[in-house]
Order: sequence, then structure tokens, then C-alpha cells
Amino acid sequence: MIFCPLYSGSSGNSIFVSSDGAKVLIDAGLPGKSIEKALVDIGQNPTNIDGIFVTHEHTDHTKGVGVLSRKYDIPVYANLSTWNAMSKTVGKIKEHNIKIIDNSYVNIKDMDVISYKISHDAADPSGYSLISKNKKACVATDLGEFSNEVQKILEDADVILLESNHDVQMLKFGPYPYNLKRRILSNIGHLSNEDCGKAVVGITNNKFKKVILGHLSKTNNYPELAYQTVVNVLNDSNVKLDKDLSLYMAKRDMPSNYIEF
Ligand SMILES: [Zn+2]
Ligand SMILES: [Zn+2]
Repeated sequence: MIFCPLYSGSSGNSIFVSSDGAKVLIDAGLPGKSIEKALVDIGQNPTNIDGIFVTHEHTDHTKGVGVLSRKYDIPVYANLSTWNAMSKTVGKIKEHNIKIIDNSYVNIKDMDVISYKISHDAADPSGYSLISKNKKACVATDLGEFSNEVQKILEDADVILLESNHDVQMLKFGPYPYNLKRRILSNIGHLSNEDCGKAVVGITNNKFKKVILGHLSKTNNYPELAYQTVVNVLNDSNVKLDKDLSLYMAKRDMPSNYIEF
């Protein structure tokens, strides 16, 4: 499989995942043109995308969904509450491209996509596991808390995109209004660097993983701080980088490194 975050952060998210037979996007939260460009940059043709899976209706995950679906005739997958909540943002989608996920499981060619509940302030937010043969990738961003259920799902993954949204001190002393700070810090907000580190410790076991930190806040975080905070938590718990797992950073404005596994 191939896993490549095209864009990751508070300013827009889209992740490319492929198996031998299937190619999908998780979210398309930037203008369609930006996502087209990123796909071309990593050597992919947008016409070959088999589906766009939407995690939740926030515009940093849905902005380009409608444009891409209409232009390239791409099916869009989301649960019913998310469909209802994002209908304005995505605009008119052709009937045959409206795919409502009703029992969390979708099969596309040789890939299974399984959605799971996450805690976030959206209608019915989801994370996704993508499985082909015996390989598994997971997308877990926009999490107010790292629940035991999510931990179980991530424990046997090979590749994980995990949220490292903010530094708690930067958020607390930063420019955001009080209510927004409270929302981000709540259990339906976003995962801090520190909590991300603890989550990584929680999923460390004898299965080696590639963990990509993503969905960083532009205002309340920066890549070096996110990375170092997570590394510090790992060191405190005796988790060994490159022996137990390898750690990567997803880029905000351009495709990150292609991970093959
Ligand atoms: Zn969100
Ligand atoms: Zn988001």
C-alpha cells in the first residue's frame, strides 16, 4: 500500500491511500485545484481516484469534495449525518456518486475501508482504517480524546496519521477567543502534542509502526515543537524511536513523503 498526506493541518486536509487495485482520498478539504495539483505532484491522475471518504463536515475536510466529485465523477462516501451537515459545502453531487456509509464497512476492489467513531464537535465524525491484504493504515485526526476504542483500532496498524494539533501553553496564551480555546481543549476538540505522545505510547507494542504527526494548528503549534514534545513523552516511557516505531511529520502545504508498506 501507499500512504501519502497531500495536505495536513488546520488549513486543509487530504490524504491519498492506495492498494494494488484501489486509490482513495480521505477528505478533500482544500480547493479542488490544490488537490489536483498535489495528486499530479505525486504522480497520480485524479481521474483514477475510486472514492473520497469524508471524516466530518468541517470545511478543512470538505472544501474540494464537490468540485472533485463533479469534475472526475468520483463517488463520495460519508455517513448520513455527515452528508446532511456537509450538503451546503459540497453542493450538488450526482446521484450515483452519493454513497452513504451505513454499517461502517466499504469494499473497493482489493481495499476495505472501515469507519470508526471519534470524539469531535461535528455531526457524526469518523476515523478510517484502510486495509488491503494484511496491511492496515489508519487516519485519526480531529480527536478531542484518544479513547480506548480508537486505541484498539490503531494497535495493529502499520501506518497511522495521528493528530498533534496544539501546544497547550501556546493555545492558552495565544490569540484565540476564550470560547474557542475551551472548545479545542475539550473532549470534542483536538488532541494536543502531549496527548498525542501519550497516545503513541498507548499503541506501542511488538508491531512496528510508522506514525505520522499531522493536523497541526497554524496558530498554536509548529512542527519542531510537536515532534519534540512527542519524542519527550516517548523517551519518558522508554519507547525507542526506530526500534518500536518511526515518527514522521505531515506537511501543511504540500505532499509529505510517500510511505510504502
Ligand atoms: Zn474538525
Ligand atoms: Zn480538521
